[in-house]
Amino acid sequence: MFPTKEYERTRTEVLIETFIRKQLHLKAHTVTKVEETNECMLVHIDRLGKRLLRCGVCRQRCLEVHDIRREREWRDLSMRKLPLKLRYRPRRAECPRCGVRVEDFPWAEPWARVTTALSTAVAVLARELSWKGTAREYGLNWKSVATIVKRAVQYGLKHRKRPPVHGTRPVKPS
Ligand SMILES: [Zn+2]
Repeated sequence: MFPTKEYERTRTEVLIETFIRKQLHLKAHTVTKVEETNECMLVHIDRLGKRLLRCGVCRQRCLEVHDIRREREWRDLSMRKLPLKLRYRPRRAECPRCGVRVEDFPWAEPWARVTTALSTAVAVLARELSWKGTAREYGLNWKSVATIVKRAVQYGLKHRKRPPVHGTRPVKPS
């Protein structure tokens, strides 16, 4: 029997889910669904079974999940021209050292509303272009770009091994 159209579609979806799961280095999480809307590709993420989550502060593995928070979304690099968004309900883990803390996300820094992949790409482009130009390129507003660049600079100062981010400009809309 030849695979039906529906079978093919499902197989393609699985391939996309696997691709994204690998790209995001998910181990304790998984992609449950990829949804195409008019504005974006929405990637639904969930915890993978009972895999242990890490504390968002000290990154220690935690045995217990305290509770499940409201859904959050993160902007990721675009799939061609379609923005990719991750959607997930963060867990709060009971860390033996820190107490109840929001888990560590493998795809983003705890405070960030964009993924590490996107913020790295933005920080790199912002060395070449203005914040406005960078914002236009990635479909973000310039304030988001400013936040990302400032964070990247702070990160660069804290982690000297990584090359510092150049070309930062004073914060002003233009
Ligand atoms: Zn901790």
